[in-house]
Amino acid sequence: PAKPLIADDVPAGLKKVSNIVAVSSCKGGVGKSTVAVNLAYSLAQMGARVGIFDADIYGPSLPTMVSPEVKVLQMNPETRAIIPTEYLGVKLVSFGYAGQGSAIMRGPMVSGVINQFLTTTDWGELDYLVIDMPPGTGDIQLTLCQVVPLTAAVIVTTPQKLAFIDVAKGVRMFSKLKVPCIAVVENMCFFEGDDKRYYPFGKGSGSKVVEQFGIPHLFELPIRPELSAAGDTGNPEVVVDPQGQVANIFSDVGVCV
Ligand code: ADP
Repeated sequence: PAKPLIADDVPAGLKKVSNIVAVSSCKGGVGKSTVAVNLAYSLAQMGARVGIFDADIYGPSLPTMVSPEVKVLQMNPETRAIIPTEYLGVKLVSFGYAGQGSAIMRGPMVSGVINQFLTTTDWGELDYLVIDMPPGTGDIQLTLCQVVPLTAAVIVTTPQKLAFIDVAKGVRMFSKLKVPCIAVVENMCFFEGDDKRYYPFGKGSGSKVVEQFGIPHLFELPIRPELSAAGDTGNPEVVVDPQGQVANIFSDVGVCV
């Protein structure tokens, strides 16, 4: 069972962070990192001070999706705190910027590395820290949720039925930890061509989750070649939410940009 977090437990480097938002999925490849990065840059475009922590140790995507000039994390020689690198004003920390090879680690080691990053990074003052969670709902995810005082969670899914079952698991994990799930992003929902919308994976799984768990927001994100290209070229300036509704995601937990 989850250990309740007491205020004194909050790592020093996170104390000046107002809101910590986990972007989570139970399966890989559904677009979790794409959503996390675009959510962060959308918030930054709206004037917020934002950081991204890529907690996906096995497959860190941040170095591919965002291409900062300085690609290796620095350490403050006095405090020994990790200093995030930065791109377009957004602070970035990823295992992929740690200058190490790909990770072959057992679960407890992964939890240890994540803890180390979370407890020794000096984020400074931030309005939002977006955490790109490792996919799944196992020990690694639980530990992370216990170390970090999460404000809210955003769940990413695709329309297939299997993804729905997995999302339900994610929602249950966060609700056990008393973290509100404020939005579901149904990614790769449809694509547009010949003035028509095509739903290659069927319809309705996102709205089913939202109804079942009383989640306030559902975003349908289409398949867009620009999004994929932006992710592959390290240029994250495409926003998830061109209608400017990102702020609404946060209104229900009393968080404003
Ligand atoms: P995850 O973090 O869930 O593993 P990613 O965000 O890395 O998934 O996305 C997997 C791949 O799919 C990436 O190449 C990404 O660019 C692409 N992708 C994700 N969402 C979309 C979308 N809506 N339209 C086009 N390509 C997408």
